[in-house]
Amino acid sequence: MSLFTDELHIHLYGCLSAMDVWTLGRDRYRKMSARLDWYASEYAAAYGRTPDYLHYWEQDHGFELLQNDFLFTKHGSFAQFQACFNLMIALFPAVPGDTTILEHVLKAQRAQGLRYGEYRCFTPPYLNDEQIMTFVGAAADAAARIDQDSGGQFKPRLAFSISRDVAQGLRQHQAIRAALMGHAERQRVVTGLDFCGVEAGHPPGPMAPLFSAIHRANQEHPPGALAILYHVGESFDDMSVMSAMRWVWQAHQLGAHRLGHATALGLDLAALAGTTHVREGVAERLDHLAWLEVQAPWLAQRGHLIDVQEIKAERARLAGLPVDASTQVSYDEAAITAARSLQSALLQDLTAAGAIVESCPTSNLRIGRIADPLHHPLIRFVAAGLTTVVSSDDPGIFAVDLDHEERVCRSELKLSDAVLQDLQATNREVWSETLSQRQGF
Ligand SMILES: [Zn+2]
Repeated sequence: MSLFTDELHIHLYGCLSAMDVWTLGRDRYRKMSARLDWYASEYAAAYGRTPDYLHYWEQDHGFELLQNDFLFTKHGSFAQFQACFNLMIALFPAVPGDTTILEHVLKAQRAQGLRYGEYRCFTPPYLNDEQIMTFVGAAADAAARIDQDSGGQFKPRLAFSISRDVAQGLRQHQAIRAALMGHAERQRVVTGLDFCGVEAGHPPGPMAPLFSAIHRANQEHPPGALAILYHVGESFDDMSVMSAMRWVWQAHQLGAHRLGHATALGLDLAALAGTTHVREGVAERLDHLAWLEVQAPWLAQRGHLIDVQEIKAERARLAGLPVDASTQVSYDEAAITAARSLQSALLQDLTAAGAIVESCPTSNLRIGRIADPLHHPLIRFVAAGLTTVVSSDDPGIFAVDLDHEERVCRSELKLSDAVLQDLQATNREVWSETLSQRQGF
């Protein structure tokens, strides 16, 4: 049994094991051919190889073939991870009112000995308001039943993942609230909203109206308050690590209750071995430079000194370019040094402000392509005194569990027993229902 007993960053579909996918998919793959063709073409684009998905169920060694294509057990890009994940999206589309996957996962998690989990359920953008209400209501009712049947030994909670597009997110938030209003049991188990969509092109700043709407609704109705769980700073293939760490700080400023991954905040640029530069959109670079200039006074107090003249010169040079153009940001020695001091200033500020980061050891090693585990951001977070929790993200597709994450923390990240005890204690203190300051619960 693991020291860790609470999952604060875990995705419902990400809990399905290869055997779950094979077993649950066996009865339905024939009806899903168009969706599975999409999975196969996306997979081919990511891996240069088209999977023979019919073989998964029609050949003797089909399960091994599925396992080989589906499990994400090595380092790879986010696009490659998504290509594996797509098999579940193809086989198990969200059908409002159908709680088969939810119940399967929650019962399996309970059987593993978990005591508490906040399961993130993706709300597809194609569901209309009425369908969202059915989807949320049925999922919440099923989770509440399992919660009651578990006699306090296992507390499942749900966080619905909504869109980073403001108009879409506002609509989804309202429909989710409507599904919960007047249902005390549903409100008890639905405790958060998650943002997990593609980060590129979605800086936190423009999302302010959506954050405000959620905070306002929470104040108006505290018993149903929903914590904001925000994936940020996890991917930086299309933007600089410096911009990504700024996004983490901005998401906290907007009032995110917990920050998912925040890899950029704890990753040393020098650890991105072989990456000498990145292409970043001109608009994003200009945003970053403008932000640096405005925040310069407090950043300087925290040790990050900015050459304002240099920033003005770069802004002037970029100002003439089309907004959809990109510019090269190099990761040379000077950039590595500057990134370190910006990171240090942001870490100090976020720590002082009580920010909370969810760190997922294996997920970050594999998707973040961190070659040396001793560069794992979690080590940096712990050293800075930042409030951090450990979770497994997508244990099924990574073929891990909390026990495995504990071993990674000990043997690869070299975290001490005392640190692990502290992390487990923190996991129990920052549940969504605690952070959103609900009343009467
Ligand atoms: Zn996640």
